[in-house]
Amino acid sequence: MESWSATGDLAQLRAAFAGFHEQVRRVVNACPSVHKWAIVDRDPLPRWSDGAMVLLGDAAHPMTQYMAQGAASAMEDAVVLSRCIAEAPGNMPAAFARFEAARRERTARIQGTSQQNTFMRQPTDPGWVYGYDAWTAPLPEYS
Ligand SMILES: Cc1cc2nc3c(=O)[nH]c(=O)nc-3n(C[C@H](O)[C@H](O)[C@H](O)COP(=O)(O)OP(=O)(O)OC[C@H]3O[C@@H](n4cnc5c(N)ncnc54)[C@H](O)[C@@H]3O)c2cc1C
Repeated sequence: MESWSATGDLAQLRAAFAGFHEQVRRVVNACPSVHKWAIVDRDPLPRWSDGAMVLLGDAAHPMTQYMAQGAASAMEDAVVLSRCIAEAPGNMPAAFARFEAARRERTARIQGTSQQNTFMRQPTDPGWVYGYDAWTAPLPEYS
């Protein structure tokens, strides 16, 4: 089920949370309506661009939510893509290829780690996630 608009059953939701803390139940009881959607795993795509078109964010690397990095990754993409375009304003295919080369490994690692749903379950150095600065991360050479 991949619908984003399927409505959920409030009674079913409330029953599922019946044993939870009162504060949780108050939130659930206050919901006027709910929607439901599947959590879908996706593997990295073979490529993100074709000619004058390029993907970024969820379209390029949809990830499960367990690391809370989907929007963060989309914003990182936007910064890196803007840097690549700024350095090759007349050559979009080259800028797009460089963008993908700069971003693929990191986003695939987040996709894979998120898929396992193990991030921070044990003592973890999260520096590789939170220490990344899209404005200063080195860009690869043009291929
Ligand atoms: C419940 C929930 C909690 C989340 N929590 C976090 C979090 O804590 N931290 C985090 O980093 N991420 C979080 N995310 C993930 C984050 O929301 C997404 O990764 C992020 O929104 C992706 O941004 P995007 O711009 O790639 O795609 P989207 O935000 O999906 O934007 C795509 C846009 O394109 C529009 N669109 C689609 N088709 C067309 C069309 N044909 N023509 C024109 N427009 C179109 C859509 O309406 C949408 O506005 C969460 C997601 C959910 C669902």
